[in-house]
Amino acid sequence: MFGGGQASSVSNGVRVRFWGTRGSLPAPLDARAVGQKIAAVLRDVRDRAIALGDDAAIDAIVAALPLQVGGTFGGNTSCVQLDSGGPEYTVCDAGSGLRAFGDDVLAHAPGPHVYNLFLSHLHWDHIMGFPFFRPAYMPGNVIRIHGCHPNLAEAFERQHGAPSFPIAFGQLAATIEFVTLEPHRTYHIGGFDVRASPQRHPGDSFAYRFAAAGVSVIFATDSELAFASITDAAPSIEPFLDADLAIVDAMYSLGEALYAKEDWGHSSNVAAVELAQAARVRHLVLFHHDPANDDRTIDHLLRDARRFEEITRSGTGLLVSAAYDGMELVVPEGVEDPRVRM
Ligand SMILES: [Zn+2]
Ligand SMILES: [Zn+2]
Repeated sequence: MFGGGQASSVSNGVRVRFWGTRGSLPAPLDARAVGQKIAAVLRDVRDRAIALGDDAAIDAIVAALPLQVGGTFGGNTSCVQLDSGGPEYTVCDAGSGLRAFGDDVLAHAPGPHVYNLFLSHLHWDHIMGFPFFRPAYMPGNVIRIHGCHPNLAEAFERQHGAPSFPIAFGQLAATIEFVTLEPHRTYHIGGFDVRASPQRHPGDSFAYRFAAAGVSVIFATDSELAFASITDAAPSIEPFLDADLAIVDAMYSLGEALYAKEDWGHSSNVAAVELAQAARVRHLVLFHHDPANDDRTIDHLLRDARRFEEITRSGTGLLVSAAYDGMELVVPEGVEDPRVRM
């Protein structure tokens, strides 16, 4: 288990840690939702006449609960850490999950460090964590914010300072640099070969393909996969070809995407599976969960995606997971089953 944010101990492959998996707006559990989970567990224990036994037996019962009952997909917005074992940190998006990432680094390896952030785009849910990223307030840290949008700096500076925030961007003690990337060009940054590709989304967004140690990981959030056939989708598929892991926008059900939320800039669980199948991706992770969806609804979307994958499968098949805050994966060394809680 790679606790801490420290990028250090990967000998083979890439470790991926999800700090924020929600889209649009943070969506914390409320007291009623927690109470419903506790009640569901108690009823199950009663109905199955499970003997609780000692503390270890209770821990085992809790560990075996499905995530949507014994845990939660989480409520922080987009933030994913990639670790190929190099000394610098690599983070996709600066949503509210960035706060938890920064706190974890400071708890385990305070630094100073070099942080490479890659921004899919500048919608608020993807930058809102930065004012609460404590390493930004510490001298000695170097934070490089990469993105394809020309107004990258403006978006970050604007959310600091009056009237929205008490500390102006210029008062941050870390060295902060903005790096504008060109789509379709490969850069070597923080131990990864990185290439951005444009996606369909209001104001544009960009997917990133990261390659290191023979492993390729795609971060592709906030993208409307709107195609009628695989042939139509050819330009969309190319950045995903033969990826080991693809983290893909799957905010909606197929029905929502087709009939209610067309042109909203997001994709369905089914479209994400179709894309991953067409691109021969090995493991698909559904991402950018709708804040309106509770844990059971997200679990249903995951089950539907897995069922769709099964009935349309050709060849070896595709592993499908739904991201949750705190999920950790190792790619490709025996991809851990993300349904197992940590
Ligand atoms: Zn978003
Ligand atoms: Zn967006």
